[in-house]
Amino acid sequence: MHHPDTIAALATARGESALAVVRVSGPLALEVASSRFTNAKLADAPSHTAHVGWVTNARGERVDQAVATVFRGPTSATGEDVVELTTHGGTAAPQAVLRALLDAGVRLAEPGEFTQRAFLAGKLDLAQAEAIADLIHARSTAAARSAARGIEGRTSGALATIKDRLVETAALVELELDFSDEDVEFADRETLVRLLGEASGEIAALLSTARLGAFVRDGVRVVLGGRPNAGKSTLLNALVERDRAIVSEVAGTTRDSVEAEREIDGLLFRFVDTAGLRETEDAIEAEGVRRSREAAGGADVLVYVADARTGLDAQEAAFLADLTARRPDLPIVHVANKADLLASGGAPNGQAGSASPQNVGAPEALALSAHRALTDPAALDGLRQRLLSIVRAGESEAESSVIVTNERHRQLLAQAHEAVGRAQSQLEAGASGDLLALDLRAALDALGRITGAVTADDVLGAVFGRFCIGK
Ligand code: GDP
Repeated sequence: MHHPDTIAALATARGESALAVVRVSGPLALEVASSRFTNAKLADAPSHTAHVGWVTNARGERVDQAVATVFRGPTSATGEDVVELTTHGGTAAPQAVLRALLDAGVRLAEPGEFTQRAFLAGKLDLAQAEAIADLIHARSTAAARSAARGIEGRTSGALATIKDRLVETAALVELELDFSDEDVEFADRETLVRLLGEASGEIAALLSTARLGAFVRDGVRVVLGGRPNAGKSTLLNALVERDRAIVSEVAGTTRDSVEAEREIDGLLFRFVDTAGLRETEDAIEAEGVRRSREAAGGADVLVYVADARTGLDAQEAAFLADLTARRPDLPIVHVANKADLLASGGAPNGQAGSASPQNVGAPEALALSAHRALTDPAALDGLRQRLLSIVRAGESEAESSVIVTNERHRQLLAQAHEAVGRAQSQLEAGASGDLLALDLRAALDALGRITGAVTADDVLGAVFGRFCIGK
């Protein structure tokens, strides 16, 4: 595709740093950059070479010493002539260099415009371009790893296999259509059934990774619930291995929610300590209780902490029953805390052991000591494993697997799955080939939108608008 204009932007973040990069791309990239560069070799520089010189402004003043790296189209990232000026970092020098280029007649790039040009030049497909944005926004090891696989083209590769199958199916159906005058039956019904079944299964397999994909992308929100003094703050501190929450012996002192993040096995977990669950006349505390209800509502997982010695009372059981009724899908992990007091018989009222951790909420309650875990993080391994197994639910982010982390991809996969399902019913009902062909085309169209083989301008706008300027 032809782009008449040349664009420039700062590719690195503003702020103090050793170096910064100003990028120029377009037909005039070399001409403009060399008009502002003291090293005369730049104008005729071969592709993939670096040149040291001074960048000069419109008044001919030297603004910064820089390294100009030349990539000539079509072997550059955008497919056009590209010059990357590596300047000194900070705010002033890169801005002065960019200003000098803009004054020489190039235009400031729109957000994501470099990547959009790369897409339009066929250097990468839409799913790969989105993966670049995902990598830039990645906040956890798992998110970065998944994005890197997307850039590699794993998502596109998985889709290509499915598309091949659907194209093969469509070809068989269309062959039948071509010969429909001659009253030819579907040459090989069994093959059609098999191909559609395989495509449907493969799409379903990708779709089933989307739940984990959302956790990989956004992190997992784990809300700690339980009565004041159950040990939620202590548990939060132990989980994140730092003093983030205020731990106090006075009941009800954690009035507001406290959040802290921690990676477990590469996945980002956001732990939220709520104000605790207790009916109260205290206005501020009532607000805290309200917030804790709200926080539990927005949880991906609820870790409900109870004192192992006392277990759950009727009020807590009612709260949990109410929550389960409203959020039947919400996984709840029951923690029987202060297990150290059970074992040592150290309860102040001398009734230690009167409640076993087994009766705290559920038979699978995890007995632990948050207090001990402060000095022995391994004491929480059981809880961490429980959280991981809930989040992964049989899926894995293993090296070989593709995880659907992108919501746009998920929606299009769901559309493709539906269309294949319709095709399967048509085939079963003995519908005509042209109806079948219609559904197959809809499925292929949905898959094509993921990689950008089929595109609409609004989709491109939405995708590339997610980038910062300079990407
Ligand atoms: P929260 O109100 O639920 O956040 O409870 P805190 O974390 O503030 O803990 C209340 C009190 O229980 C504090 O004195 C903690 O030190 C203590 N505590 C918390 N967990 C344990 C535990 O596992 N064993 C013992 N013995 N004390 C604990």
